[in-house]
Amino acid sequence: MKTKGHFSFLLILTLLLLSGCSNSSPTNDAIQAQTNLFAMDTYMSFTAYGARAEEMLAIASERIAELEGLWSVTNENSDIYKINHSAGAPIEIGPETEALISYTIDLAEKTGGAFDPTLYPILTAWGFTTSHYQIPDDGTLELLLENTGYDKITLLDGEITIPAQMQIDMGAVGKGYAGDILADLLKSNQIKSALLDLGGNIQTIGTRPDGTPWRLGILDPVEGGNLGVLLVEDKAVITSGGYERFFEDDDGVRYWHILDPSTGKPARSGLVSVTVVGNEGRQCDALSTTLFVMGLDEASAFWRSNRNFDMILLTENDELFITEGIADSFTLNASHDHLTMQVIQR
Ligand code: ADP
Ligand code: MG
Repeated sequence: MKTKGHFSFLLILTLLLLSGCSNSSPTNDAIQAQTNLFAMDTYMSFTAYGARAEEMLAIASERIAELEGLWSVTNENSDIYKINHSAGAPIEIGPETEALISYTIDLAEKTGGAFDPTLYPILTAWGFTTSHYQIPDDGTLELLLENTGYDKITLLDGEITIPAQMQIDMGAVGKGYAGDILADLLKSNQIKSALLDLGGNIQTIGTRPDGTPWRLGILDPVEGGNLGVLLVEDKAVITSGGYERFFEDDDGVRYWHILDPSTGKPARSGLVSVTVVGNEGRQCDALSTTLFVMGLDEASAFWRSNRNFDMILLTENDELFITEGIADSFTLNASHDHLTMQVIQR
């Protein structure tokens, strides 16, 4: 079976090119610091401006390592590992993990279960946790599905209990949640301009140091390059798609790591990628995964009944859909004019 790695690295390169500041004003805000690191299974790159930029990025790097230590599925000391190996016993967790898990349960409820943090055993059955890919048969999936379902999690006063056979993972939301924590940390320490790239999950603080919006390239996972450029200020911009981690069978059929919780199989909704733009990284991360599961119609309906985020959807038929809140901030690349672009209205 053929495998492909992550596209995130490409995205990072593109972003750096697009986000370079003009460096024209000799003010404090033009003082730039940059840190590259590997955490949460991905390459991250943080850029910040201002007198305290360097100091704060060093603290941010320590924070991300701490959060990884809490939420890693494989680190034996992490909260998530302890929960997954609790054999049905209650486990005490700290406030950050409690807030994160509580957020995932809320979101699972709001999305009718299209988001579900209890799919880890099924991801393992497909080999997505080890890269030893295989296609589980329907019987195996049916058995595994019996032990999934966010409604079987009990979370109360810093204590969590899940059934003995259940395992949870924060893969769809942890990086976004971490981005929020870092953004809050930087903002409360006088950083007014920063771009945090957590493996393609982008969290922007304020504007570029010269006061203009950040210019983010939105990756085209099919043709390569960028679909277009999005201008944002103080927003998270997070993309999910089946192209990020997948394998192919002998007939060239692709299987990817975003699963439909109702079948335990890779979600095939007709979408190639979903980009979510909003105030909170946690929401953008969780929703980019979930709206990919839902597909165009359901995602549009979800947007209409919430409208506290915006999105860009790319379909398998070369259509680009963008919600009206960001339609004016997005410019389609001339090299991608084979795509039809439609605005999703209220
Ligand atoms: P990435 O982290 O690769 O950028 P995502 O944010 O889309 O991509 O998260 C994908 C991960 O989310 C999977 O590897 C898996 O751990 C988890 N996951 C897959 N399907 C779902 C789902 N329906 N609901 C919640 N989490 C999911
Ligand atoms: Mg996600």
